Amino acid sequence: MNPFSKLGISDDVVNAVKELGFENPTPIQEQAIPVLLEGSNDFVGLAQTGTGKTAAFGLPLLELIDFKSNKPQALILCPTRELCLQIANDIRNFSKNTPGASVVAVYGGANIMQQLREIRNGVQIVVATPGRMLDIIGRKAIDFSNVKYVVLDEADEMLNMGFQEDINDILSTTPDEKKTWLFSATMPPEVRRIAKNYMDNPTELTMGTKNTGNVNIEHEYYIVKARDKYAALKRIVDYNPDIFGVVFCKTKMDTQDVAEHLIKDGYNADALHGDLSQQQRDKVMQRFRDRNMQLLIATDVAARGIDVNNVTHVINYALPDEIESYTHRSGRTGRAGKTGVSICIINAKETGKIRQIERIIGKQFTKAELPTGFDVCEKQLFGLIHRVHNVEVNEEQIDKYMSRINDEFADLSKEEVIKKFASLEFNRFLEYYQNAPDLNLSADDRERGERGDRRERGERGERGGRGAEAGYSRLFINVGSVDEFTRGDLLSFVCNNGRISGKAVGKIDLKGVFSFVEVESAAAETLLANFKDVQYNGREVRIEVSGEPARGSRGEGRRGGDRGGFGGDRRREGGGGYRGGDRRSGGGSGRRDRDGGNSGGGFRDFSGRSREERSGGSGRREGGNGGGGSDRRRRS
Ligand code: AMP
Repeated sequence: MNPFSKLGISDDVVNAVKELGFENPTPIQEQAIPVLLEGSNDFVGLAQTGTGKTAAFGLPLLELIDFKSNKPQALILCPTRELCLQIANDIRNFSKNTPGASVVAVYGGANIMQQLREIRNGVQIVVATPGRMLDIIGRKAIDFSNVKYVVLDEADEMLNMGFQEDINDILSTTPDEKKTWLFSATMPPEVRRIAKNYMDNPTELTMGTKNTGNVNIEHEYYIVKARDKYAALKRIVDYNPDIFGVVFCKTKMDTQDVAEHLIKDGYNADALHGDLSQQQRDKVMQRFRDRNMQLLIATDVAARGIDVNNVTHVINYALPDEIESYTHRSGRTGRAGKTGVSICIINAKETGKIRQIERIIGKQFTKAELPTGFDVCEKQLFGLIHRVHNVEVNEEQIDKYMSRINDEFADLSKEEVIKKFASLEFNRFLEYYQNAPDLNLSADDRERGERGDRRERGERGERGGRGAEAGYSRLFINVGSVDEFTRGDLLSFVCNNGRISGKAVGKIDLKGVFSFVEVESAAAETLLANFKDVQYNGREVRIEVSGEPARGSRGEGRRGGDRGGFGGDRRREGGGGYRGGDRRSGGGSGRRDRDGGNSGGGFRDFSGRSREERSGGSGRREGGNGGGGSDRRRRS
């Protein structure tokens, strides 16, 4: 027997949900459906978005409604237009085999005449946002005297958005004996009050522990300096080439700003905020839903009701003012049984807030370290390798070129061809990340503090620390093991180019894309003076005193030694990074954005498009940035 049938759902509806791919009920459906099917109780369900809530109340409604009558019998109120459309659509799908079933979506920002017409034609289920619903009630265009069930979906969100009074007014037009089913992700006192005022001894169901976030979501935080936030965001994205994420900012301006930077830097991103017209918002959402965009940068208000499945990451670029909102943000990922990661990029002062959120969600955060530039390069490299390995070959089309391709590679061995293919994309990451600083504030600070202590004690750090031994200078050099240097190679490279004796060189700390070399202070002066215009594999090699501006190279964007680390090149990281840099490789993949094709993979988006092509491709500026729908909260 079909598991939904076991719960008491009739065949027409079971067949419809089967077609939607629902094989087994989600936990909330399993628990709520039998209770709601009785139709005799008020109900409070504490459940996150994405848990299958809509079917949990939608399927029982379809069993309880008399579809022979054309009068509204169920009213579903929800906070946003997006959610309203989604719920109406879901219920239409659930009832596709149910004769006579009719659902109307009532929401602001759309033609009211059409909605009035649909209501006049007769509907049993009204899904509405509060503002437009009141408008229609004010026109005496709907009769709620036969309403038997009212569903308040995302009740906490509706209250957050200031719909309390509207809800009161709407409910006062429905019969006293109706049953009220309330769903909420959180249970702040205001929602409790609604439950108390409008409900009679409701059955309560809590999915998971009270206020507990979705179990499928991992929570992580990264501590960085405020000015490194954007660089940290980029690094997280680069480290997750298949990311499909929502980035939350506090203000519309920040949202726009972050999105514009990302677009300029070649990422497939766009902004969603209240200053966009409804049409623009719809367009952005559609692109995101279709996965033609990887990163949606949004404010809390604009992101309400985002119902996109398979979001892999939620990134809190700024923590929400209302800690409770965190649950809503993180609930955008880990939907429908999938796993997701919710990330907070914070400054050191905000760790207290993380502890508060932990208390609210009843789950611990992991304090994560931002990947190093080397980590990112490695991740991207193997991402590329896997994609090359798995790419589907169109034998028919490629065949006619194969002999010419083979001729082109005739002078190269298989190993050389592989190396060159891998390098084609890898070099770009390498170039960008070779000087990338460590952005992890706490790690840095800790190290700096410890270094101070060690210095006072006259000790050297574990791995040479970041301070050189007395009488030595610690030099940063932008070559390392990825250049296939061994310590010996690096020693001769430094000595030959700096024209110093090997005896003057102390500890060599060979890293991935860079290294540290300790040199006797007097010899270091000589080395730095001689080390000019040095190239390795066509790349300019820089050497500098660790934490100080470089000598003997152009080295733009280098900062002073405030971090005490190597002289990172933050301007490049913060602004038009390598993705925005000039590209020689073909522009083929650049078309993908505009054509609406797949854009899931990181590398594929790092195409050879020019900046103009890219901003044109995003389609974001088409409609300008103004638009009527400013703060539509109360209007829904
Ligand atoms: P909701 O919480 O209602 O927004 O549902 C989240 C997502 O889960 C939607 O895409 C639903 O289509 C999907 N979903 C709901 N119930 C089931 C189920 N029993 N099996 C598979 N997917 C489901």
